[in-house]
Amino acid sequence: GPLIGVLALQGDVREHLAALEQSGARATAVRRPAELSEVDGLVLPGGESTTMSRLLDIFELLTPLRARLAAGMPAYGSCAGMILLANKVLDGREDQHQLGGLDMIVRRNAFGRQVDSFEEDLDFDGVGGGPVHAVFIRAPWVESASPAVEVLARVSDDPQVPGGAAAAGRIVAVRQGSVLATAFHPELTGDTRVHRLFVEMVEGRS
Ligand code: GLN
Repeated sequence: GPLIGVLALQGDVREHLAALEQSGARATAVRRPAELSEVDGLVLPGGESTTMSRLLDIFELLTPLRARLAAGMPAYGSCAGMILLANKVLDGREDQHQLGGLDMIVRRNAFGRQVDSFEEDLDFDGVGGGPVHAVFIRAPWVESASPAVEVLARVSDDPQVPGGAAAAGRIVAVRQGSVLATAFHPELTGDTRVHRLFVEMVEGRS
């Protein structure tokens, strides 16, 4: 399989490495520019986007990572990773870096800051085999997206979803070219279908 890196500065790195291995990829942690240059694709894990943003500076990964994304390296961001890949963030820190790759605006902690988590079964375009059980942890949503961004999943309009009416139908999974992102954490559920989709993208099969 392809060699897929997981950005390993902070966040749930192990879970992504395991999910990638189970999805037919070879998985490796990426902390240094030399490691980044070896991988065929990169996962940006869940965690804290402001912290990851600072660590990208400290580990001198910001410029090489932007360069690889601009050159078309496939990337998948979950939650904090989605925030980093968006062109613009609302409710972020002023000095938070955006890597870009997804022509959209995300809102951090969108479902309510005080809400730790919720779970919902989602229809996910391009993932066969029934709904995907989505775990949201202080998750962002996509506030708006350019037509170039393909919407793959939305939360329901169930009033149980934290955020109430404002949250109904919000976009929570997207793809633009070789960049995939989910506001939730498939790496935590043992369901590898989203990681398999990403591996297929890296292999050029999807
Ligand atoms: N709230 C976090 C952030 O803003 C994301 C949370 C997560 O990745 N589970 O980066």
